[in-house]
Order: sequence, then C-alpha cells, then structure tokens
Amino acid sequence: MTSVAEAPPPSPSKRFQFLIIATSIINGIVMNTWHSKDSPVFETKNSKSIVHPFIVKGHRGLTINPYQGCQHRCGYCYATYEWSPEFYDKIYAKSNAPEVLESQLKSWKSDTIEPVMVSSATDAYQPAELKYGLTRKCIEILQKYNVPYYVFTKSKIIERDLQLHQKYKDDCFLVWSITTTDEKIRRVIEPGTPPAHSMFKVIKKFADAGVCCGVSIDPILPFISDSPDHVQEIVDSCYDAGVAYVFGALLRLRSDIWERVKIILELLHIENGIDQYKNVIYQFKEPLKPWFNVGANKSYETSVLQRLKEKVLEKGMIFDFPDLIRNVRLNSNKNPSAYPGGEQAILLSYM
Ligand code: SF4
Repeated sequence: MTSVAEAPPPSPSKRFQFLIIATSIINGIVMNTWHSKDSPVFETKNSKSIVHPFIVKGHRGLTINPYQGCQHRCGYCYATYEWSPEFYDKIYAKSNAPEVLESQLKSWKSDTIEPVMVSSATDAYQPAELKYGLTRKCIEILQKYNVPYYVFTKSKIIERDLQLHQKYKDDCFLVWSITTTDEKIRRVIEPGTPPAHSMFKVIKKFADAGVCCGVSIDPILPFISDSPDHVQEIVDSCYDAGVAYVFGALLRLRSDIWERVKIILELLHIENGIDQYKNVIYQFKEPLKPWFNVGANKSYETSVLQRLKEKVLEKGMIFDFPDLIRNVRLNSNKNPSAYPGGEQAILLSYM
C-alpha cells in the first residue's frame, strides 16, 4: 500500500483531472442555485486581453466577452463550468474592455480579421449592460475598425442599440437564443431571461430595420422542449418576426449541467425523465465523469433536427448559420469617420 507521502507526483493529465473534479464539486454545489430569485452582485475588474480565438463545430472565429458571469440564469448553461462558482450571482464588468479591445485591434498583426462573436461565455446584453454600457462601447470600436461581428443574446436590452447595429447592417448578424415559448418551462430553465414573446417583438424591430436576424433554438431539451408542437410554435414566431436564419442543437451534458438538469426534470414533473435521459437519450452511467461531454444518441438527434429543418424550410427561412468565416480587411485608417468606406467588406455578400 502506498502512502500519500510516498506516492509519485501525478501526471499532468491526472492533475488536470483532479482540478476538473475539484472544480466540478464546488460548481455542482454552488451553481445548482441557478433558480434563485436573488439579484446578483456587480463588481468591476480589468482584463489584459479581450479578443480571444475559438473553434466551435468547425466554425473558427474570435470572441469578446465584456462581462463574466450571467444574470440570465440558464440551468443548462455551458459557460458555467470554466468560470467561478458564483457565475449566476456575481457579475464582473470588465471595465477596461473597450480600451483593451481598441489597443488589440490597433496592434493587430494582420491586415485582415475574422468576424468577432459577441459573446461566447456570457450574455453581452444582460442587465449589467444598462449599468456599464461596455457592450455598446465595444461594438462601436468593432465598427470603427471595420470588423464584422455577430451577437448572441437572450435579451431585449439590445433594442437600445438598434440604430447602432442598423448602420452596420451589412456587416453584422444578430442571433437570439430562444429555447421555449412556454412560460412555465422558461421560468424553470432560464428564470432570468425575458419571455419569448417579448423578445420576438424586439427581433421584429431589427428585422424591419433591415438587420439580418437569426434564432438559435439551443439547447433543445429532450422531453421538455422537443415536441413537434413546441418546435412549431418557435418556428412560427420566427417567421412572423421576419427572422432569416433558424438553427438549433440538442442539449449536451456535462457533470455539472447534469446535476442541474436532474433538478429541472423534477421541477417540471417529467415522468421517468432522469431514467430516460440516462438510459435512452444520452446513454451514460452515473457518476458522469467531469471531463465528459455527452451528446444525445444520433438517431434521436437526427430526428429532432430533421423535423426542425423541415419546419424552417417550409416557412422559407434558412436552416443554417450564415457562413461568416472569412477574413476581412481591418480599417487601416483607424479613423471613425472612415466608416463606411470603399474598402468595406460586405458581410451579406458571402452569407
Ligand atoms: S444567457 Fe447564455 S451565458 Fe447567460 S446563463 Fe444563459 S446560456 Fe449562460
């Protein structure tokens, strides 16, 4: 038997696994409180860097996150794992984000740049934006430097910036992530978000203003929001609001997300929900290892997404994400008055 003192030092991968386990235990305990009605605490912090590269499902790009943490309190949130355990309860505003963004763009090593995603690990238009206005300032800087961008949000607050996005409409794409039009479900799974019908009203204003709008139905939750009627209602609302692009994805499970989803299944009284998830849809054994990321079984996933695709196409909308993956020239003048200029790359021309 080897004592702790005699044990060889763990390999890097074991150390990494230990770190993940420790983090997931803390996160699992603290972040199961996503459904709390308490207001978060706001704090400011400085960041050394704000533009970061990412690759998701073959899409390469850059992302900026003006905030850390998110008041929208989605129980299925994928961004919780790598952040602090107070993800839902303490929102950090990266108060120097606009200055850092400008300095990074000014010293960009290439003449070209890929589209920037705003944001990947928080909602840039969560209520903190009304207090700090960092997203608006970052968007102004992206426009100043001729950078195409796409925004992912679940918020109505973006309406404040309608004119700002409208004047850049050929080079931006706005996506609302809408998972349900059923208020009973929304209050359980994402209690900090506005009701879907109010978001669709905002989307319509952007679509009427000529801004390219998309809806991402992500995640679709098995036995909760995957029924044909449920999906149809979202698709119909997208059509009525003038949405051009609709796409979706099935929920993926990680150990901390699974802990919250189990509570969601119970709160929504989904009969045999936990067993169905474990044995039929996701097919895993507990405990789920912290570094596992489990997708729904292929046949289930294909049938749900195929159904969604058919409904979207029936309405004449596009079942896809626009192909934004192309470098464009940075504004070499670095002068706000230079926009719109002759060198401007037109995003819509390669969608
Ligand atoms: S809005 Fe996005 S980042 Fe915020 S809690 Fe929901 S899923 Fe997470």
